[in-house]
Amino acid sequence: MTERDETTKESAEARPAPSGRCDDTAASLGDYRATFHAARVAMAVLNRDGLVLAANPAFGELVGADPAELVAATASDLTDLGADPRVWTAYREVLCGRSDRLRCTRRLKHPEGHSVWVEVTVEPLTPEPLSGEERMLLSVADISDRHDLLARLRHLQMHDPVTRLPNRALFFERLSSALETASFEPSGTGRIGLCYLDLDGFKAVNDTLGHRVGDRLLSAVAQRLTRCAESPAVRGGHLVARLGGDEFALLVEDSTGTDQLAELAQCVLDALQRPFDLAGQRLSVSASIGVVERAATGTTATGLMQAADTTLYWAKEDGKARWTLFDPERNAHRMTRQALSSTLRPAVDRGEFTLEYQPLVGLGDGRAQGVEALVRWRHPQFGTLSPNRFIALAEENGAIVELGRWVLERACHQARAWQLAHPAEPLFVSVNVAVRQVWDSDLVADVAGILAETGLPPELLQLELTESAVMGSAGRPLQALQALSDMGVRIAIDDFGTGYSNLAYLSRLPVSVLKLDGSFVRGFRSQEHPNPADEMIVEALVALAHRLGLTVTAECVESAEQAERLRRIGCDTGQGWLYSRPVAPDRVAALLDAGRHTGA
Ligand code: C2E
Ligand code: MG
Ligand code: MG
Repeated sequence: MTERDETTKESAEARPAPSGRCDDTAASLGDYRATFHAARVAMAVLNRDGLVLAANPAFGELVGADPAELVAATASDLTDLGADPRVWTAYREVLCGRSDRLRCTRRLKHPEGHSVWVEVTVEPLTPEPLSGEERMLLSVADISDRHDLLARLRHLQMHDPVTRLPNRALFFERLSSALETASFEPSGTGRIGLCYLDLDGFKAVNDTLGHRVGDRLLSAVAQRLTRCAESPAVRGGHLVARLGGDEFALLVEDSTGTDQLAELAQCVLDALQRPFDLAGQRLSVSASIGVVERAATGTTATGLMQAADTTLYWAKEDGKARWTLFDPERNAHRMTRQALSSTLRPAVDRGEFTLEYQPLVGLGDGRAQGVEALVRWRHPQFGTLSPNRFIALAEENGAIVELGRWVLERACHQARAWQLAHPAEPLFVSVNVAVRQVWDSDLVADVAGILAETGLPPELLQLELTESAVMGSAGRPLQALQALSDMGVRIAIDDFGTGYSNLAYLSRLPVSVLKLDGSFVRGFRSQEHPNPADEMIVEALVALAHRLGLTVTAECVESAEQAERLRRIGCDTGQGWLYSRPVAPDRVAALLDAGRHTGA
């Protein structure tokens, strides 16, 4: 609590109606005089103008004057009642009889130089018996001890016992008041900066060496941080706080720009680089730091902390043991990610997704055998989004389960329609399946249900899974693959070559198709500089796959020359712009009507 707060709160305390005033019938006037004189509490009698009529020795002592000399002095000057407008008004109300009491806390300068905290009370006395003049009693009690105690309590409340640094509460108080000051008092730079740091791998220290060592490490780190913050090289004197756990913050008020913050962050990294010797243990730690620097106007404490939090996350993501500066563009990207992520699920219900289909073409005869279903999001705000923008997000937040089911259903309906229109040589449909669909949903039941509902024969459905999705599959995923394969559904490994590329392992799974990643084909794209090594690798892969009973599809076939080489090497099917870009379903129907020969 600040001095101002305290005053405001207590000045509001006023008794409503004048009631029992001091009654002087029982004791003599002399008794009162003696009591007034001997009292340890500083007291003065005032007239209605607030001038001193009499002051006792304790009062004289408090203000450093002979009580006799205080007669006719202005009481409000002696007790600093004029400094705060609200106190001043309340005081005037008592003097003119509209209010019954004023009580407030003030800090006074003691004649010996130190300051004392006092509680000032002003209340009416019974009028002077002879003249009937209204008088007030001003009493001033020294509450310095109580105030110190409160201050000490507050210190305890506002500091972290482990590191003795200011804690989160104090940090936010300082941050808010710094923002306020910087925005409204043009004396400083009007800017503010923050280094928000988190120790890398601190949890491991706690877990392996125990909390005692963890605490000692934290407090040693705190000391080094404090030294950095005080260093004249970074125009020191910055606040260091422990925000909780292994998180610390360094606040730079009146920052001169990002350079100053960068220097401070680098100083912290350097300081933490030296190992710590703690009771026979030699420990090394590093920290990741998010650095934010901006104009104070328009910045809120929460806004600044959010930016710092995001930036700290980037520092971790970029490889830890570093500082990273807040980047508004990177943040906008993150915001879009967030916006997309949170609207994915409702978008499925609102029907904002559509499928395009891309032919899978036999390299021998150039005829389309099947199509891959590729999802697009017709976003009302961002336009049509490619799956690279949202599939990973849907996997992260689980929306992929619903979206995947929708894709499967839509694709199967479509394939069944094509089959009915061209029963002699039906097209199969290949649908991408995310790992989470295998884990978090009953894929087998979904597929069986959709096949039954649409009437699509299982042989006309192929599911594409990535290598990483099936690697190490045991238990549930393996059972699912087996059940699907038993049903007659083909399993393809998508983007083969980008992951573990463990053919021997894959051959033991119920997999029947390998889709070679586009990067292989791209490797021998250049006509002038063909890379024989790439071609040899692909040739060996294809041969091996064939020996293991798998067929091979090449992705990203863009030129006739690539198609020819792939055919010679022994690839079975190709997919790519050479044949067709992914297209709307009616274009596929047109292709079927034309005898399914693609443009190539
Ligand atoms: P993918 O399964 O490897 O799909 C092939 C991607 O390569 C498609 O990109 C396709 O448009 C693109 N492509 C086709 N031919 C060529 C070519 O000649 N050159 C080049 N440069 N690219 C070509 P798209 O449609 O953006 O899909 C990207 C990825 O998104 C897909 O890669 C797939 O992993 C994922 N995806 C798409 N639809 C779904 C879906 O319904 N569910 C799931 N789980 N993932 C999907
Ligand atoms: Mg695919
Ligand atoms: Mg692929």
